Amino acid sequence: MARVFSGIQPTGDIHIGNYVGALRQWVSLVEQYECIYSVVDYHAITVEYRPAEMAERTFNTALILLACGLDPERCRIQVQSHVPQHTELGWVFNSVTPVGDAERMTQFKEKSKQHRGNINMGIMDYPILQAADILIYKARFVPVGEDQVQHVELCREIARKFNARFGDVFPEPEAILSCAPRILGTEGKNKMSKTLNNYIGILEDEGSTWEKLRTAVTDVARVRRTDPGDPEVCNIYTMHRAFSPENAQKELGEACKKAAVGCIDCKRVLLKNMMAELAPIREKALSLKGNPDYVMDTLRQGAEACKRMTEETMDEVQKVLGLLRLPHP
Ligand code: SF4
Repeated sequence: MARVFSGIQPTGDIHIGNYVGALRQWVSLVEQYECIYSVVDYHAITVEYRPAEMAERTFNTALILLACGLDPERCRIQVQSHVPQHTELGWVFNSVTPVGDAERMTQFKEKSKQHRGNINMGIMDYPILQAADILIYKARFVPVGEDQVQHVELCREIARKFNARFGDVFPEPEAILSCAPRILGTEGKNKMSKTLNNYIGILEDEGSTWEKLRTAVTDVARVRRTDPGDPEVCNIYTMHRAFSPENAQKELGEACKKAAVGCIDCKRVLLKNMMAELAPIREKALSLKGNPDYVMDTLRQGAEACKRMTEETMDEVQKVLGLLRLPHP
């Protein structure tokens, strides 16, 4: 089975955009690939954060991965900082990556604008560590969103540069792009995000989800109930595409165009369909919260298995780099 690697930031509060765009795909990839999924905590320290909250955020993110249906018997779930070979290889990759390659990354430019008071080396080095996250496992495929495709390209470039200089060690991984609908924030303009507070968390209860849906922006041209709408420009309809059965999508789309359905009724149908999928995840998450040892054991086993794989790669890397090695005892 070809290997897949992907990582998620330890936000501790995963929203429906993350779920639809990434986690659903992660669950289905386990059927075809050997998958390694990481909560990438070292990536998260490149921006301002509260150290007292980080462990809990990381734990909760891992818990949500399990609640969404990832089975630790069939894939590896680990935390980036528990497997030190990620950062070790990241250092090696720093030595083969021109500064200009990192500087031209769109995400570096955007983050430098967002965090003007703290443009640290970690922000620039982010995609190099990301390349190490992937290549330390010699992963062949990386499920990513469109905004990360440039980083996968850089990862391929790093693999090429390393191989050209030191020998054929790394494969060139390919991005697997999610074909899921891109859900925007509840204001209908920006990407759904915790920072912008425009998100619907996958663990929110029905009341809280409804409050957010009820006030969410729809087709802004639909001012009165009698105005026909355009589902193609409505973020609520995008959510229907993600959560509602095809026949319901079709019916509501047609009804919207003829003003035969009001936005509140359309949102009520969405809530019902969304809850049908998310309520069991919420229940599983609540039951896992009562069993933290299970989550920690999963992470321990994931780290141990990943260390075995990554030590092998680092051994090979150190050999081709020509470093002085201690003999095995
Ligand atoms: S009826 Fe539904 S699809 Fe149409 S504008 Fe309102 S919320 Fe959007």
